[in-house]
Amino acid sequence: MNEILLTGWGRTTPTRSRVHLPADTDATLRLMADGNGSRGLLARGLGRAYGDAAQNAGGDVLDMTSLAGIHAVDVDAATVDVDAGVSLDTLLRHLVPLGLFVTVSPGTRYVTVGGALACDIHGKNHHREGSFARSVLSFDLLTPDGEVRTVTADADPEVFWATAGGMGLTGVVLRATLKLLRIETAMVSVDTERAGDLDDVMARMEARDDDYRYSVAWIDLLASGAAMGRSVLTRGDHTPLADLPEGKRANALDYGPKALLSAPAFLPPGLLNRLTVRAFNELWFRKAPVSQIGHPESIATFFHPLDMIGDWNRIYGRAGFLQYQFVVPFGQEGAMRQIVEELVRHQCPSFLAVLKRFGPGNGLLSFPSPGWTLALDIPAAMGGLGPLLARLDERVVDAGGRIYLAKDSRLAPHMVPRMYPELDRWRELRERLDPKRRMTSDLARRLQLL
Ligand SMILES: Cc1cc2nc3c(=O)[nH]c(=O)nc-3n(C[C@H](O)[C@H](O)[C@H](O)COP(=O)(O)OP(=O)(O)OC[C@H]3O[C@@H](n4cnc5c(N)ncnc54)[C@H](O)[C@@H]3O)c2cc1C
Repeated sequence: MNEILLTGWGRTTPTRSRVHLPADTDATLRLMADGNGSRGLLARGLGRAYGDAAQNAGGDVLDMTSLAGIHAVDVDAATVDVDAGVSLDTLLRHLVPLGLFVTVSPGTRYVTVGGALACDIHGKNHHREGSFARSVLSFDLLTPDGEVRTVTADADPEVFWATAGGMGLTGVVLRATLKLLRIETAMVSVDTERAGDLDDVMARMEARDDDYRYSVAWIDLLASGAAMGRSVLTRGDHTPLADLPEGKRANALDYGPKALLSAPAFLPPGLLNRLTVRAFNELWFRKAPVSQIGHPESIATFFHPLDMIGDWNRIYGRAGFLQYQFVVPFGQEGAMRQIVEELVRHQCPSFLAVLKRFGPGNGLLSFPSPGWTLALDIPAAMGGLGPLLARLDERVVDAGGRIYLAKDSRLAPHMVPRMYPELDRWRELRERLDPKRRMTSDLARRLQLL
């Protein structure tokens, strides 16, 4: 056990916790039994939630990356049984050569299965395959009373859906069985097109997203006037073996991504300002092909480009950064436009802004719901950021939308019930699992979730 200062990926609001690395399941059970101090207990994965979801100031944190076994892969059934602390990075290195892929992958492979379930994460294929929990056939949950329950969506839907998206507050996920996707190659065939403005990109996505398994648009949030919302739209699917050149077919499933660079520990303060980000965005937009069909990309380049730069979160300096991600329902395109206009008016220096379309959601605290989602990184030191985002929160709620708790570090607590109408139902279910309120987190305290 070590006392450690923890942050999320955005490196804002560090807090100190007693961090334990359980050596096996029994040790996790013992820690759950002992960890009943007044500041409670929480599981943590790889700390890729941007805000304070995986922190527990003054309390205990179980670092589940110490339990990261892959127990069994059933290639015929396309399933895998793993410890919850295994990362998607480890899992993909094991699965891709077998012709298997995780059904849902976020923008980084450095997340654990437990973290992916607790935040019910989504990928570029939400419009097709839904969120991560949809691919979870069952999981073992250590509940605060020390019981280990094997939970499935059919047999125990309430516990299943309270835990999926439940931000680690229903117990500790120990193990999970996942349904996988079959792939024939480790390549993705990608179609790219540039869109001149926001209406253009939304129209293109609406018209043809359903033809693709994966779809995402990068948006230039510094372009204004007629170019507001200009974007690069990339869509694709796993490349079938027959589409690979013959010479490459024998090694079609080779997979070994590497981090190519490491971000320097020190960068001049204010490096990411409007001028540098504007120059980057201009270059990014111009370098994208106006239209390109079937370009071959590796899994790492298509799904996890940011993982090529180790610790890239340090480029924002000491103040750190935050990610603002919201969804507004289909039919609320006007609200999306107003929000983008406001971000452009404030000239938010964001070089990472992506637009996706969500399919049906999962209820309770799970974030995705049918509609448009925009995610953008913003330096925490940007002047006027607090009031700007508070205004945007109101617009999101008025449009019937919500923001993503896995990315949040600054939302006001009174907004949560307005964004998550099933919050009380979730609280009721959680209370049954944890009547003594032993599971808790900085996020839970800040947003008064419990
Ligand atoms: C570069 C980048 C890109 C991203 N892209 C996406 C994206 O495309 N889509 C998306 O949805 N998200 C995305 N995310 C967010 C990320 O997928 C989630 O925050 C994910 O939960 C992180 O997993 P983790 O293992 O790091 O969990 P942590 O950050 O350590 O924890 C997150 C939450 O999970 C809980 N938790 C962790 N392990 C367990 C366990 N074993 N049992 C119970 N609870 C547990 C924690 O208590 C906490 O509440 C991205 C993050 C980064 C940094």
